[in-house]
Amino acid sequence: MTRTTCPYCGVGCGVIATPDGQGGAAIAGDTLHPANFGRLCSKGTALGETLGLTDRLLYPEIGGQRVSWDAALDRVADGFRRTIAEHGPGAVALYVSGQLLTEDYYAANKLAKAVLGTGNIDSNSRLCMASAVAAHKRSFGEDLVPGIYADLEMADLVVLVGSNLAWCHPVLYQRLMAARAARPEMRIAVLDPRRTATCEGADMHLALRPGTDVALFSGLLSHVGGPGISLMEAASVCGLDPAELQAFYTAWGQHERVVTLFSQGVNQSSAGTDKANAIINCHVQTGRIGLPGAGPFSVTGQPNAMGGREVGALATTLAAHLDWGRAGDVEKLSRFWDTDRIPTKPGRAAVDLLRGVGRGEVRAIWILGTNPVVSLPDADQVRRALAACDMVVVSENVRSDTLDHAHIRLPAQGWGEKDGTVTNSERVISRQRPFLTAPGEARPDWYALAGVAARLGRGDAFAWTAPAAIFREHARLSGFENDGARAFDISGLAGLTDAEYGSLPPTRWPCPAQGAGAERLVVRGAAPSGPAKIVPTPLRPPAQPVSAEFPFVLMTGRVRDQWHTMTRTGRTPRLFLHWPEPTLEMNPFDAPADGSLVRVTGATGAAVLRVKHDAGVRPGTLFAPMHWTARFCDAGRINPAVGAAVDPVSFQPDLKHAPVRVEPFPARWHGFLLSRERPPADLAEWCALIPLGSPLSPGHTVAWRAELAGLDAPEEARARIERWLDGDGTWLRLSDPGAGVTRAARVEDGSLRACLFMAPTAHLPPRDWLACLIQLPQITLDDRRTLLAARPANGLAPEPSLCVCHGIGAGDIRAAIGAGCHSLDAIGVRTKAGTGCGSCRPEIARLLAAALVPA
Ligand code: SF4
Repeated sequence: MTRTTCPYCGVGCGVIATPDGQGGAAIAGDTLHPANFGRLCSKGTALGETLGLTDRLLYPEIGGQRVSWDAALDRVADGFRRTIAEHGPGAVALYVSGQLLTEDYYAANKLAKAVLGTGNIDSNSRLCMASAVAAHKRSFGEDLVPGIYADLEMADLVVLVGSNLAWCHPVLYQRLMAARAARPEMRIAVLDPRRTATCEGADMHLALRPGTDVALFSGLLSHVGGPGISLMEAASVCGLDPAELQAFYTAWGQHERVVTLFSQGVNQSSAGTDKANAIINCHVQTGRIGLPGAGPFSVTGQPNAMGGREVGALATTLAAHLDWGRAGDVEKLSRFWDTDRIPTKPGRAAVDLLRGVGRGEVRAIWILGTNPVVSLPDADQVRRALAACDMVVVSENVRSDTLDHAHIRLPAQGWGEKDGTVTNSERVISRQRPFLTAPGEARPDWYALAGVAARLGRGDAFAWTAPAAIFREHARLSGFENDGARAFDISGLAGLTDAEYGSLPPTRWPCPAQGAGAERLVVRGAAPSGPAKIVPTPLRPPAQPVSAEFPFVLMTGRVRDQWHTMTRTGRTPRLFLHWPEPTLEMNPFDAPADGSLVRVTGATGAAVLRVKHDAGVRPGTLFAPMHWTARFCDAGRINPAVGAAVDPVSFQPDLKHAPVRVEPFPARWHGFLLSRERPPADLAEWCALIPLGSPLSPGHTVAWRAELAGLDAPEEARARIERWLDGDGTWLRLSDPGAGVTRAARVEDGSLRACLFMAPTAHLPPRDWLACLIQLPQITLDDRRTLLAARPANGLAPEPSLCVCHGIGAGDIRAAIGAGCHSLDAIGVRTKAGTGCGSCRPEIARLLAAALVPA
């Protein structure tokens, strides 16, 4: 049994992993961890199912050929050396990740700034919380998260801004719901253009226009006595009823203990820094900060976004909260690292970095633990840039869209094999401990980074033999010539022995060498480095406004059970049950038929998505998930359609205000395919692959479903697909050429091996019963008779699961409500739905609310 930390979101839940001796592990929440006290969400609960070796990169490769680690690292060092000699240090770069452990992050930052002499190291955390970092620095003089999770539980009013907490930080949301159940007088307000699952637990939802948060909080600042704008102006800019806005302002003003939590909906904006400062201003103005139950609270998306901020592995920061903007800090860091190579100015932030690659200004890049050809805006430009780059090195543990572009591939360790630390959104440093042996020649990232540094002549400064030594150096740097000037000080941990590091319990910073660190920072407006400031936040229009050509505002984000680019959650069939395909959520007022396919086009590219009607989406706005990659649905990658405008202060891209148009996708045929083999992802212009698995063997993909649509002639498509499906056995067929309908199934030795359904429209039979049949070793004669009708003889087809822990569908839940279960707990007792990880409880609440509305 090993105590470790979940590798997904910034809540940073403690996990207990018990290896099964066969490469897997049983997973449970750690009841002693202060982030989750034993809870896990649907993603965390399914972690054990993601540990297999499918698609693992096991050995270093150059040009697709296996090589030794020495040969690979020689080539990387050589490539950097030659590029710097010919084009200078500005022509090399590292692009890293909030998935890296702090020790790997530290090594990457030191390699870039102390050895390569470039500021060109940025992290995918730029996409997540760079605006919060910039806002903290403007308000507090340093990147400080003032509060702790317990403040959410102690507050009388919790305001969630641009945060679908129920899906994106589920355990924190569950803690909030539990606190509200214990103190029913607690109020919760959600500020979000969409009515998300989070709204199910809220008392108030303000569906403001996308990008207008600055106006809303400037109005609030004025309401609480600071400089701001009037209620009427705020309501007009935000598109809200003045009375409902007044009610929110009144509630905010009446409650001393207010926490305003914000996340990507605030940060991912061309005015992200101003939005965050506009929120913080209200807390500074009223002194609602640094007290139990009061303060602005930025929550991060990634497991170690905070660790990256601490080590400074961003193009805009130095290290350990040392900053280019503070006189003497470059010299301080140069002394500590014993180098004269630290650049005198910041490097390129993520979007600019990949643009630089595209323009040939950056000619050698090392990408660690991230998938920018999917996750960055203007994603097709990123693809083209990497395809043309002189040297692309990728450290990854699994095959990914980005790994496909690498000249040199370095096998990284996966979760369960890594050894180091991560920091969560409330500044708690936790250990990620290995409980599996790394397969093949997978090695820690710090090993590869130190190997390159040694080949470039700085082996002395990278002579670590274990992550504990890196952590000690990082801790020492935090206290180096600090004298209280930087709140980030963990020098009290610099003397940990290897054994003490191994058993380090979750520890909140600061933890200085002398004295105790404060639990809450920025007390009553006084930051460690001076008084907190009210920062002017003038109203600015979005950098990418809508136009006659692109009249809709597209927002991208996450769905409940997937994580980033699916390199981990994509291995778990049950995590596809909730949201199997890439979709476009539209208000029914704006939308073509529910379930139809549309092309979403922006100035930089397009995606094809399945329409999902949602009355909770504001008319004129759209929502699309950001998870789908070329491995699961190439046409469904949304980021080619998202322009790359960035915030001028934080350089965070605006992923919440992309102007696009929506047109029907002119498919000549639609279809679905079920197969025991994984279909190729290019079987049709639209091809969404969905792994299918049995609850009896969780994590094991037994068969595949492909949703298809094509622009070619249906007969040609049918022949092409059947050629791919061909094999032994008997074909059952039903074909009506006049109606353009084809249904075919291949049965071999009593089991269903494949089936293909095609029609001229997206109206096709339900897939769920067939998806069950294809996973069975044998089907009955009754099943065989009704196969092509796609429903069992008794008519009782299964339905998609809403509760993936217990496989309970919406119909069963509605039936329970109909039978008199009028609370979440009653439904749970009758059906078990919502009694596992709890991630589905907001959706059950939505069904309950809909069913109980008086006729
Ligand atoms: Fe992992 Fe879920 Fe906890 Fe986030 S809330 S750290 S995804 S278990």
